[in-house]
Amino acid sequence: MKADDLTTCPRCEGDACYKQEVTNEITTYSCFGCGFQSNSLMKKDGEFLNEQLEFLPELYKDLLFEDNNDQCWLPSTINLPTQGMVFANGSNKDNWKWAAVKAIEVTEDEKEKYPIPNKKDEYYKHRMDMTTMKIFEEKNYMDALSYIGVLPE
Ligand SMILES: [Zn+2]
Repeated sequence: MKADDLTTCPRCEGDACYKQEVTNEITTYSCFGCGFQSNSLMKKDGEFLNEQLEFLPELYKDLLFEDNNDQCWLPSTINLPTQGMVFANGSNKDNWKWAAVKAIEVTEDEKEKYPIPNKKDEYYKHRMDMTTMKIFEEKNYMDALSYIGVLPE
């Protein structure tokens, strides 16, 4: 991560927002301060955003943040099969926190419970262990990433 890839997040105003130009038209933003992400296609009332919203939980819709350029930001969802996941968890935008869950290896005894769909005799090697779920305050998004090993402790 180069320093010039970092920009100021319009949501939390922190300077840990990672900006990446994917193509000439698409730039993605991922803020490590508040955990929200966006990209240049996520325009208010735009087709791309509306399609995304259809599949998102109510909490994410409630947390949608619109910046001064009509670009919208949503909480990040991290889902790494071998490491774990981090997602926004709660009932509404005034009452939510980050939840982090670790992935663990599937044991030989339990593998029958985790078959890979449409594959014969193939099983997932990792599963999310919900008993490891830990809750983090909004501003501690990076601690949630550390917890599942995405960032160093
Ligand atoms: Zn931010």
